[in-house]
Amino acid sequence: MFPVRGAYLFGVMLTIPFDNSYGRLPERFYTRMPPKPVAAPALVALNLPLARALGIDPEALASPEGVEVLAGNSVPEGADPLAQVYAGHQFGGWAPQLGDGRALLLGEVVDRDGVRRDIQLKGSGPTPYSRMGDGRAWLGPVLREYLVSEAMHALGIPTTRALAAVTTGQPVLRERALPGAVLTRVASSHIRVGTFQYFAARGDVEALEALTAHVIARHYPEAEGPLGLLDAVVAAQARLVAAWLGVGFIHGVMNTDNTGVAGETIDYGPCAFMDRYEPGKVFSSIDTFGRYAYDRQPDVMIWNLAQFATALLPVMGEDREAAVEKATEAVHRFPELFLEAWVSVFRAKLGLAGAEEEDELLIHRFLGLMAEGQADFTNAFRALGGPAARDQFVSPEAFDAWEAEWRARLARDPGDAAAILAGANPAVIPRNHRIEEAIAAAVSGDFGPFERLGRALARPFEERPEFADLRRPPEPGEEVRQTFCGT
Ligand code: AMP
Ligand code: MG
Repeated sequence: MFPVRGAYLFGVMLTIPFDNSYGRLPERFYTRMPPKPVAAPALVALNLPLARALGIDPEALASPEGVEVLAGNSVPEGADPLAQVYAGHQFGGWAPQLGDGRALLLGEVVDRDGVRRDIQLKGSGPTPYSRMGDGRAWLGPVLREYLVSEAMHALGIPTTRALAAVTTGQPVLRERALPGAVLTRVASSHIRVGTFQYFAARGDVEALEALTAHVIARHYPEAEGPLGLLDAVVAAQARLVAAWLGVGFIHGVMNTDNTGVAGETIDYGPCAFMDRYEPGKVFSSIDTFGRYAYDRQPDVMIWNLAQFATALLPVMGEDREAAVEKATEAVHRFPELFLEAWVSVFRAKLGLAGAEEEDELLIHRFLGLMAEGQADFTNAFRALGGPAARDQFVSPEAFDAWEAEWRARLARDPGDAAAILAGANPAVIPRNHRIEEAIAAAVSGDFGPFERLGRALARPFEERPEFADLRRPPEPGEEVRQTFCGT
């Protein structure tokens, strides 16, 4: 008799099953404070499957009460909002005091898979760590992070997620007035290398011990002590950077405060997927010297991990010399772990299941051909094995010779090459010009392109005819040459 949806008239009760742990760490880890309300919140994106995975009713999140929560206008039952403090090396320069300058951790939930997840509002107003910033975000970077982080997830790469985006009804002043927005970000944690550095720099051994114990329990329960933690993070980051390279991803700001200890991709600022393959490619407007170029990412990660190791030294035992030696060894394992992961990623991209000594060379020669032949990174891999493969190169003859060798190698391989190729080489990636197009439309009120791009990116390995245009590389006039920090 009574329609179920009728309950909506009375407001669907929003319950978020919070189970907070970070707020139990000592008070010097954060500043507890509520978000700052905004004028006129409106929901523009909601991630239904993620909401369900977190045990949150999407309908309740979309209700007026839910939108108030997503905008920071009301604090839900069980939340314990706080801004986390951290430090970090930015472009190699030490910043002793950073932190959530425009974000607040609402709290944590244990998801359907038993994984503890942070729920964070980004763009929720100033905090004691805002420095000169306004604590806000504008719609562009919010939609960009939404699209790219969800694309990363669909590509099978560890990442923070996007649960929702709301506009605030308030302008944010950048070079001009832009629509303000808040992103709800979900992460297995927001603990960074820079969080450890913050306490190490202050000689706060007690805090380092508490943080180490928290991170081990939360992310690496099998790890033994700080050295075990270091080993685990080194391994996780080796896999992560290899996965980035496999999809042509350039993080853009691999500062130590943007390096998560859980091994997830975090902080989508001036990041970009490259179109044409250029090993030294840089997009970020502020990365003048290419510190974070595509092919420098493994080396930069070693540098970041060396900072992590240094920060852990005070909790690695009395014998300083022995600790330094062990920590150094752990960091020095990165190149080997990375290479192993990288070869395995690119073997799959060539459709190979087995392993042969010469595979690494075969991969490098293909990449060399792509660089010389100005091939589109994504499309050249996706085209492998098909009739259009040679058309991806300016000089197809060089490709023909390589292809013959590749086919000989495939003939010796035990795997189902077609299936491996299709599962390792995405058809659709978030191309910069498409993201910019979606943002421009959204700013003028049309969220159609944003939603369409999101639908395509949710199943990136499928060639769906309705999204064929999204696979096309940019025309010269469409090419995005620079990306900007998400401030
Ligand atoms: P990011 O470049 O996003 O990694 O930010 C570096 C630092 O600047 C972090 O501590 C941020 O919280 C802070 N920050 C960035 N943008 C803003 C902003 N609009 N308002 C306040 N703090 C910000
Ligand atoms: Mg950051």
